[in-house]
Amino acid sequence: MFRKTAFNIYHNYVKRDELYTLKALFNKTQYWSKEEILNYQWDLFKKQLNYAYEKVPYYKNIFDKLQLSVDDIKSTQDLIKIPILTKDIVRSNFNDLVAKDIDKSRIKWNSTSGSTGSNFKFLSDKGTLVPSVLQHRCYSWMGIDFFDKKMSVWGAGWDVKKSKKLISRIKSAIKGATVLSGYNLSDKDLTDYFKLMNKINPRLIISYPSILFDMAKFFEKNELTFSPKAIQIGGEKLFPFQRDYIEKIFKAPVFDFYGARDMSMIAQDCDKHEGLHIMAENVLVEVLDDEGYPVEEGEGDLVITNLHNKVMPFIRYKIGDRAVVTQKQCSCGRGLPLLKEIIGRSFEIIEFPNGNKVGGTFWTILLKTEPGIQKLQVVQKAKDLIQINYVPEKENGVINFKNFIDKIHHYSGQDLNVKFNKVSEIPPTKGGKYRFIVKEIE
Ligand SMILES: [Zn+2]
Repeated sequence: MFRKTAFNIYHNYVKRDELYTLKALFNKTQYWSKEEILNYQWDLFKKQLNYAYEKVPYYKNIFDKLQLSVDDIKSTQDLIKIPILTKDIVRSNFNDLVAKDIDKSRIKWNSTSGSTGSNFKFLSDKGTLVPSVLQHRCYSWMGIDFFDKKMSVWGAGWDVKKSKKLISRIKSAIKGATVLSGYNLSDKDLTDYFKLMNKINPRLIISYPSILFDMAKFFEKNELTFSPKAIQIGGEKLFPFQRDYIEKIFKAPVFDFYGARDMSMIAQDCDKHEGLHIMAENVLVEVLDDEGYPVEEGEGDLVITNLHNKVMPFIRYKIGDRAVVTQKQCSCGRGLPLLKEIIGRSFEIIEFPNGNKVGGTFWTILLKTEPGIQKLQVVQKAKDLIQINYVPEKENGVINFKNFIDKIHHYSGQDLNVKFNKVSEIPPTKGGKYRFIVKEIE
């Protein structure tokens, strides 16, 4: 009750009615036809592009240099004329990407832990409520109310750090959110989390697939039960066997979401689970082939435009993930476009001789389903040769390499040669990160 009152006071006096207006709008737009949604999205895109040209030196420079005018971009077919924005470009043009005369109170410093070893900094826009309204819409798809208690078990350390600021403590109390670390969970941690779950009784659990999969195994082994209303999973590719097992142990439906700190909420599945609905009111998502042309049906690189960040607009930003897109419509009746699945980080993807591709999580799961290996690093030496550098769990422990190879061959076909190479340590990269996948071929 306190949370509800505090929330109403906050929004009636601080943010006025914008939240309720947006909420009502987005409840409608999700059921518009796909064509209506795409038209609405295109208007937002054109507004953002005009704004970027007027206010953001980087975009004015590239448009002028290419002798391109905003009016030349008439439909999605013209998008290819606008150069792709990469992390490297953001790093080297940081100041030119910040809008001129922006109200300082809108600026929020943000960063992602770069999987390549370096931190990636950017600015978010505190001036728009669109991302949080869309997040609440995702909650509603899972039958979760804004005021319901939620528990996040995340890997990201910076999320877990307790904020000292009163305002963020109030905000997180209003949201009813408990945030726990998901790093290196011991049996004691898992037991503590289990107790905490039963004490707090969260309706929603938010986590990575690999963390929750491990937790489910621990719960089953120790006959522990906890069942929330729903489970929201993201951060890694979700494999069907993980979804099935987690749903079985937690007796709750699993929802797959795709978000990123540099783009906020991007997509989530609904209760039909026929793919992830793109949050088209906030992001324009393109799936592109290796030549930069749009893929209609199938896999490609994700390129994303944020439609509401006025502080540091990202237009056609290559986020570094791959996804499978489809033109099919979900049977729930929502017109929001669909991604069939998120493949994951593109630099971690290894292609096997039979054409199958696996992302980084393939190896983490392999590691967890077979005993004996503590840490590994996968080095692709040639199209048909991978070397697995491994640190054994015990110095003289028994490792069943055949089991490992069988499981890999199940995906790769028999033509892949797998070599194991015992090491005492896997050295970190220059940036100090543990590099999991090394590709020595193009
Ligand atoms: Zn749907």
